[in-house]
Amino acid sequence: MSTAGDGTEVRSAGVVLSRGFRLVCPACGQQRLFRGPFRMLRRCTRCDHDFYPETGYYVGAVYVNVAFTEGLLLAVFVVSFLVNPVVSDRVFLVLAIGALILPLLFLHHSKSLWLALDYLITSRGSSRTSE
Ligand SMILES: [Zn+2]
Repeated sequence: MSTAGDGTEVRSAGVVLSRGFRLVCPACGQQRLFRGPFRMLRRCTRCDHDFYPETGYYVGAVYVNVAFTEGLLLAVFVVSFLVNPVVSDRVFLVLAIGALILPLLFLHHSKSLWLALDYLITSRGSSRTSE
């Protein structure tokens, strides 16, 4: 992170996305986003960054989750097809189980990555933490 000439912080995409993958606040990187499997904080206790800026905010996280899940399942299918062009029922069973389990496993990361992407897009170069 560096400081621009007007004193605002300039964040790199790598830093913010890394915070998204680590499930911490995209603004400061100091506060974990989740307190339990289903409990997400409403604001950062360190920098007061709002984790719920509006109703329906996390609809975008569903798209992140679907893109990750479908991408991974497609990769598994392509690799299995390249290894053995005759796709067995076992491969489809693995894909079906993956389609049910992966969205649940990726739930926290999809929300965290959505928050990080939004932070990058809407507040790049400005200090949202001082609001
Ligand atoms: Zn924070």
